[in-house]
This record gives sequence, structure tokens and C-alpha cells, in this order.
Amino acid sequence: MAKVNENYLKLPGSYLFSEIGKRAAKFQKENPDAKIIRLGIGDVTRPLPQVCIDAMKRAADEMGKVETFRGYGPEQGYGFLREKIADFNYARRGLKVSPEEIFISDGSKCDCGNIQEIFALDSKIAIGDPVYPVYLDSNVMAGRTGDLQSDGHFAGVTYLPCTAENHFSPQPPAEKVDIIYLCSPNNPTGTVLGKDALKAWVAYAKANDAVILFDAAYAAYITEPDVPRSIYEIDGARDVAIEFRSFSKTAGFTGTRCGYIVIPEGLTGTTSTGERVPFKNLWARRHTTKFNGTSYITQRGAEAIYSDEGQAQIKALVNYYLENARIIRESLSAAGLKTFGGVNAPYIWLKTPDDMPSSWDFFDKLLRTKHIIGTPGAGFGPCGEGYLRLTSFNSRENTIEACERLKTFS
Ligand SMILES: *Cc1c(COP(=O)(O)O)cnc(C)c1O
Repeated sequence: MAKVNENYLKLPGSYLFSEIGKRAAKFQKENPDAKIIRLGIGDVTRPLPQVCIDAMKRAADEMGKVETFRGYGPEQGYGFLREKIADFNYARRGLKVSPEEIFISDGSKCDCGNIQEIFALDSKIAIGDPVYPVYLDSNVMAGRTGDLQSDGHFAGVTYLPCTAENHFSPQPPAEKVDIIYLCSPNNPTGTVLGKDALKAWVAYAKANDAVILFDAAYAAYITEPDVPRSIYEIDGARDVAIEFRSFSKTAGFTGTRCGYIVIPEGLTGTTSTGERVPFKNLWARRHTTKFNGTSYITQRGAEAIYSDEGQAQIKALVNYYLENARIIRESLSAAGLKTFGGVNAPYIWLKTPDDMPSSWDFFDKLLRTKHIIGTPGAGFGPCGEGYLRLTSFNSRENTIEACERLKTFS
């Protein structure tokens, strides 16, 4: 008899986006003339940079000739891409990351979900609340947690509350954990972790022999000079941290698929007999066993952003969304609403008004009175209650129109 992995049954259904879709469809049906503007989109909408298109066309042509055709590539990723990443994102910022420490993938979601496989099943995990759901769900599937409790938390997980009171900066816990997921700039709050906050986490990880999994998918959106773009800007982080990056939000690759992780040579964990083993070796084994590489065409497309022209094009792309974020932030403030984020991220975290604390009630009000859709914060974790996530991924035109409607918010 084939038995199921019952860990999967611990997960609640993916209620958030289906419920949003249902409520929006019902409203549209009852109000066929309403022009609904979606500020809940978690996906980019602008086309790929021209340098990427040109590079991918050239790569496709190479695949069409016997002299330049390529089959399986190196599982870790082509050297041409890993070298450019090490140069542009690390060496040029004074950080030491070698191409051998970089593993190319078909996106960060898989990396964030798969990384837990190289840790012992009895490892204790800590995650932010609210947070990108992949970190938690992948650990639930693996059996690293207990059941979902009535307070919305899974048993056996250390939740790190991120609220306005602590400036959305999770504090190291009193207890000992083994794996810490940090996301900065953060999805959904749009806020960042400063140098001091990251220093405290690196110190905690060193003291507790823990590993930090640092998701920097939105690093390209950081505009403030003092905000770390990489965990490796913190002294000692190479001994305790793995970093995740993606071309999705940086270069519009959500549908094209390319990301990577950095695992420093010296980052080790212990075996049950006390021997130290490099995590990089375990990930290399996993990656070469379960993954056969990102397509050559995609890797050439990704490589193209690492040129003067490419850098200018992705900067323009990111600035388009950041300008939308600025417009949303300023309009909401002018309407008397309290917002966070949106300066170093494409997300704005909107506090629900005092007389309407429920994020679903506020969602309904925005839909009914302004025909605008956000994402209720409660969907990202219990501490997300009392907030709504707005994104800057819609067009400039729709963003401006939505903000016009919000000006008269009462
Ligand atoms: C979008 C996103 C990613 C990147 O996902 P891809 O699989 O690379 O498209 C990773 N982490 C967070 C927090 C994200 O929002």
C-alpha cells in the first residue's frame, strides 16, 4: 500500500489568492462597469530588457547550428555567468565570493524550498512573521514542524514577530535555533534590515553554530546607501550565511527563470559524531543529482545584464517600479493612511485604519469603495493582521489612477 507523506496534510489550502480572486470576481459580476485596479500583483509586468532579448536570440541561433549547439550544461551553471555574478555583485562591492561558490538555478523559489534538504531533520528553524510562505511550507513538508495550532503558528517553529513596534526587524530569539530565514528587502512588508540588525544576527549565528538563509531577491531595489545589499557585507557572515538571489525582480525574469545561491567554502555544519562538513559539498551533491541546469539560452540572457548597457536597462526597469511605489506611498500618506516600506522594495505595507483593524474587512472596503485590490496581511502570517500589502508592479497609468481614487479616502 502506498502511503502518503502526511506532512503535506498539515498545510492549510492556499486560501489567500483564491479567496481574493473569488471576492474580486463576485464584486465585478455585481458591478460590471467598475474598473478594478489590482495592486495585489506579486509579479513583474514590464517586458524583458533589450540586452536580454538580444542575447537570448543569439543563443537560440547558436543552438540551431551543429558547430555551436549545446546539450547538457554544467549543473552548477556556466562559468561565464558565475564569473560575471562574482564580479558585478560581489567583487565590485569589495566582497569576496568566488564563482565556485555560486550555483545557478531556475529561480529562487526552488532554492529557498530545496535548501532545507541539506540540514538535519531535527534542526530548529526560525522565520519572520509575516513572511514569504515558501520557507515555512517547505519545512512543514519535510516534517521539520509539528501541527498548525489555533494561533496560526506551527508547533516546533520559532516565529520572529515583525511589527511596526520593532520596525519590522526580527530580533534574535532567547532560545537556540539552527536555521534562520531572513528576507531583506522583505516580501511582504517592503522594509529592510539595517547593518546593525544583520550584525546581531551574524553574532547570534556564530554563538549558536546556526546558519542564516538570507533571501536578497529584491536587493536591486535598495536605494538607501547604508542598507546592506548582501549579507556578506557583514564581517564574519561568510562563516554563517547562505545567500539567495534571483533575476526575477531584478530583470523581469519571473517567466524566464534564473536565480542562484552563494554557499561560501568555509561554511560548515556538524555530523552526529561532531565532524565538520562543508554545506557547499552537500548542496553540490544535491544540485548535481536532482537538477540538470538552467537552459543555456536563459543563462546567456541573464549574463547580458552584466554590462554597462545591461546595468542601465535593469536600473531603468527597477526605477519604473520604485517610482510607482513612491506615488503610492505619498498618495496614501496624503490621504492620512500610515504606510511602511516602498523605499527599498516594490512593496508598500499599509496599516489598516484604527476603526477597521481587520485586513480582510479593509480589503473589502477598498474593493467596494475604490475598486482597488490589495493583499490582506493576515495571509502572510498572524503578525500580518492589521496590514494590507500593495505592490508597485502595475502600470504607471493604473497606479496613478488608483492613487487618485485613494486621495479621497475616508
Ligand atoms: C519573488 C521572490 C523570490 C524569487 O522567486 P523566483 O523563483 O526566483 O522567481 C524569492 N524570494 C522572495 C521573497 C520573492 O518574493
